[in-house]
Amino acid sequence: MEYRTLPHGGEKISVIGLGSGSLCGTEQEMMDVILAAIQRGINYFDMAPSKKAPFYAYAKAFAGYRENIMMQMHFGAVYKGGNYGWTRNLNDIREQFTWELKLLNTDYTDVGFIHCIDDREDLDEVMNGGIWAYMKALQAEGTIRHLGFSSHNPDIARRILDTGLVDMMMFSINPAYDYRKGDYAIGEVEERATLYRECEQMGVGISVMKPFAGGQLLDAKTSLFKRALTHEQCFQYALDRPAVMTVLPGVRNMQDLETALRYVSASSEEKDYSVIGEFTPQDAKGVCVYCNHCQPCPGGLDIGLINKYYDLALAGDEMAAGHYRKLPVKADACIRCGHCELRCPFHVKQETRMEEIADYFKKYL
Ligand code: SF4
Ligand code: SF4
Repeated sequence: MEYRTLPHGGEKISVIGLGSGSLCGTEQEMMDVILAAIQRGINYFDMAPSKKAPFYAYAKAFAGYRENIMMQMHFGAVYKGGNYGWTRNLNDIREQFTWELKLLNTDYTDVGFIHCIDDREDLDEVMNGGIWAYMKALQAEGTIRHLGFSSHNPDIARRILDTGLVDMMMFSINPAYDYRKGDYAIGEVEERATLYRECEQMGVGISVMKPFAGGQLLDAKTSLFKRALTHEQCFQYALDRPAVMTVLPGVRNMQDLETALRYVSASSEEKDYSVIGEFTPQDAKGVCVYCNHCQPCPGGLDIGLINKYYDLALAGDEMAAGHYRKLPVKADACIRCGHCELRCPFHVKQETRMEEIADYFKKYL
C-alpha cells in the first residue's frame, strides 16, 4: 500500500481508503471487511454509511486500532430510525457526533466534515447558523483534529477553502465528472482542474468519492463515455489529480474489497487510463492530464510529474519549484524526439511545453 502525507498535520494516509455508503451484510460480515481492510494496509475510513448498522461493526473492528486508523466523520449525516438522513439541525448534529464518539470509544475524530454542502444558501446556513462555530470550537479543544467538508460543487468548495481553516476536502472525482458528464459533473473542465491545484497550493488534501461515477463508468452500457473503464484506471485517474490523498470506493462486501485492493499490485499498463483521451471535449484537448501514457521517454523525463509541477507553479503553488528542483531529470533534458507527442492521446505538444517548462524553472535552480 502506498501512503501520502497530509500537508497540515503530516499523517500518512493510504491511497485506497474505505467508503462506507454501501457496506452491508451481517455485523460480523461487515466487521470482517473492515478488519481485512486494516490488515491489508487501509488506514483511512469514511464514516457516513447509508444505515446506522455499520457503525456497530466499525466500533468492534476499530477496537485496539484507534491510533493506527483515521476517520472522517460527517456533521450533517444523522441516523434517526436507523437510516441515513441529511440535516442542518444543530442539536441533531451534536447528538449524532456525541453518539458516534461514544460508540467508537474515542474522544476525537481525525477529520470533521461539513457534510455534503452544494449550494450557497446551505453554505450561508452552515457558516452563520451555528454549525461552523460548533465545529471550530471542537477543533480548538482537540475533538476534531482537522476541519473539512464534502461537496460536489467547485464554486462552493472554493468559498469554503477561502476560510483558510480546512485541511481536507471530500470531492467527487472521475474522468466523466471532470469532463462534464453525469449528474454531479458540476463546474467547467478548467474550473475543476483549478480547484484541485488550489487545494494542493493551500495544503488541503482531497479524499475522493464517486471514483467510478456511482459504478456507471465500469460498464460500457452505463458508462458516460459508452466505454467501460476498470477500477484500476479510475483509481489511478483520481490519484493523479493534484492534492488527492486517497480514493474511497464504496465497498459492499469482501469481494468488493478484494477488487479495490487489486489496484495495489496492478501493473502500470493496467492502471493506464489514457483511453479517456478519445472522449475529451474540445476545450480539454492539448492539456496534459499527467497520465504518463507517453512513457517511456528516451530522455528519462517523468513527463506527467514535470507537467503537474509546472501547472501547480503557474497556479501560484510556492512548493512546486522545490519539488521540481528535486527531480533527477528535468525538462531541459528533453531531446525533442517526438515520441511522447506520437503517443499522447490528448494531443499535448510536449516538445514545446518542455522548452517552456525548462525556461520557467531556470530561475529556481
Ligand atoms: S503528455 Fe499526454 S500522455 Fe503524456 S502525461 Fe501528458 S497527457 Fe499523458
Ligand atoms: S520529446 Fe522530450 S519529453 Fe517527449 S519523449 Fe522525447 S525526450 Fe521525452
